[in-house]
Amino acid sequence: MEEMHKKFRQSQDNGFTVFEDGVFTVLFNENKNQSRMLNLPVNFVYVHSSDGRFLIDLGLGNFPHKMFKRKSRTPFYTHPQHLLGKGIRPDSIDGIILSHMHIDHIGGYGNHDSEQFIPFYPNVPCFVQKKEWDFRAEKYDKAEQAYKNTMDGLQKNIRLIDGNREIANGIDVVLTGGHTPGHQIIFFSTNKRKVCYAGDIISTENQAVDGRALPHDYDRTTSKKVRDALIDQARSQNWIFIYSHAAHIKAGRLESTEKNE
Ligand SMILES: [Zn+2]
Repeated sequence: MEEMHKKFRQSQDNGFTVFEDGVFTVLFNENKNQSRMLNLPVNFVYVHSSDGRFLIDLGLGNFPHKMFKRKSRTPFYTHPQHLLGKGIRPDSIDGIILSHMHIDHIGGYGNHDSEQFIPFYPNVPCFVQKKEWDFRAEKYDKAEQAYKNTMDGLQKNIRLIDGNREIANGIDVVLTGGHTPGHQIIFFSTNKRKVCYAGDIISTENQAVDGRALPHDYDRTTSKKVRDALIDQARSQNWIFIYSHAAHIKAGRLESTEKNE
């Protein structure tokens, strides 16, 4: 944790936008006897630095998945439509940074509704931890065509990272593991304030306050350790968190509610 702070450059200033890629219902298995349905908003982030324009995660898009059902009240926008809605040209994207490779973070890579899968960013480098790629490439369900299409599309553009690295001026990734074996989190700054996209280590505003675990962590102990350390640092240094699955507060700072009385 010490390391990630030192590496950070306070001087670089980047703007960012958080997009909501719809709300999905998903079935979580708590254990083999117990499961529950959750409504899960899926968010992704656009950030620009002096080195270019980046997307952080890709949402679920229209990926057809038996575990996920898009709620009808949310209209479907393709990735390019999301960006164009904010005046961002999809062909201006220079890179994609993936926190991890769960389907709700990579499903939006292309259009699954067309006769042939069409990747939206066919020539844009995708930065992912080598550990994550190796694990997922081994494990994903190859019988599921949509998954295979996504992985094949990504494979052509994948840039494997081994550990912590600066991706572009002022945009850093830090390997955390925990939620998945090669989960990484992303740091940059805006208005001289440090911003942390903690992926699914801290995915909602509630999780940033109570630090509770999600039921689908690969390694809960590591996840909890990283989450607690991040929350501590965010509190003392006034970071902004961006939340991958928050319904209401998509980005915010943790403020102390203690009173000096
Ligand atoms: Zn997720």
